[in-house]
Amino acid sequence: MHFVKGTASLYRPILLSLIRSRSLSGLPLYVDVHPTTRCNLECRWCVNKTNKDTAASETMNDVNIPMYLTKLLEPRPNSPSYSPKRIHFCGGEPLLRRSVVLAGIRFLEGKDIAVSLVTNGTLLIQEVRLAVLGVESLQVSIDAQDRETYARLKRGDYFEQVLRNLEALANLRSKSNSSLRLVVNYVLCRDNINALHPFLTRLSNIGVDKIQFRTDLTADLETQRALLQEVIGLKYEAPLSVIIKSPDTPVTRDSFDNCLARFIWIVLGSDLSIYPCAHTVARGFQMGSLIDSNLFEVLEKNIKSPNPNCLRICPSTCGNINLLGQEILDQ
Ligand code: SF4
Ligand code: SF4
Repeated sequence: MHFVKGTASLYRPILLSLIRSRSLSGLPLYVDVHPTTRCNLECRWCVNKTNKDTAASETMNDVNIPMYLTKLLEPRPNSPSYSPKRIHFCGGEPLLRRSVVLAGIRFLEGKDIAVSLVTNGTLLIQEVRLAVLGVESLQVSIDAQDRETYARLKRGDYFEQVLRNLEALANLRSKSNSSLRLVVNYVLCRDNINALHPFLTRLSNIGVDKIQFRTDLTADLETQRALLQEVIGLKYEAPLSVIIKSPDTPVTRDSFDNCLARFIWIVLGSDLSIYPCAHTVARGFQMGSLIDSNLFEVLEKNIKSPNPNCLRICPSTCGNINLLGQEILDQ
């Protein structure tokens, strides 16, 4: 088993320039595109539930998405070489709006940018499987090692269906020259940490390349730490990479003074607003809209604005970026 801890240190030069010169040159690095905030599951830990009002309008559609992706990618003043490194289609469950995802993937084909689809895998029909053969990675949230646990934690009887969908995709991939990476996401909690070995073997046999364990960010810090220690202690050899995607240190409301991640990893919501992170796609957190401004104007305006009044349940990399920002500020 290979454990690779995420590292925020590669963001140090960007954070230094953001903190010292307020420079947005080259930013954002990553963009999440959320065609919807809706989902067909109800995972126990879903951060969407903690936001009071997540029902953003669905103005983004399959006709206008190329125009807004162009707006995200266009060069900007003082940063002519600007080019985000990665676009993720996620949400909510992005495949509830399949036509938007497919139009977006088609538009980005052949462009110099890594594209990922992050989905719960329940709606991964053949048309989608064929389309994702051309993207860099598909991340499927499974979060349970068997059917019963899945139904209990996620409120849906889709465990076997999702694995069948993944297997069908892996078979398609083996008959093509696709370099698609198949990744499984797994949020750790007390109910799903047992009997992981047979599940990892099954994933490996299906053709999954990697599993990413994440912590339930809505759980208390002690539980998060204990579960991580347990999974780190697993001894298992499988031809499957295992990554721990969790905050290096669990973030609390007092952990840092400034949210700097909101300039590095942003979200384009289904209402065509820009949001600070994947966990704040809700009313009141809009940084601006691509309908009446460009991305550069939105970020420029926000560099002078106060921090989002959020619960600070940061996505793991964003939390690590913010912790590193605080460390730099304190030096
Ligand atoms: S699949 Fe994702 S968006 Fe849907 S309920 Fe679960 S965590 Fe939330
Ligand atoms: S949750 Fe974290 S990353 Fe998201 S806006 Fe709040 S402070 Fe920033």
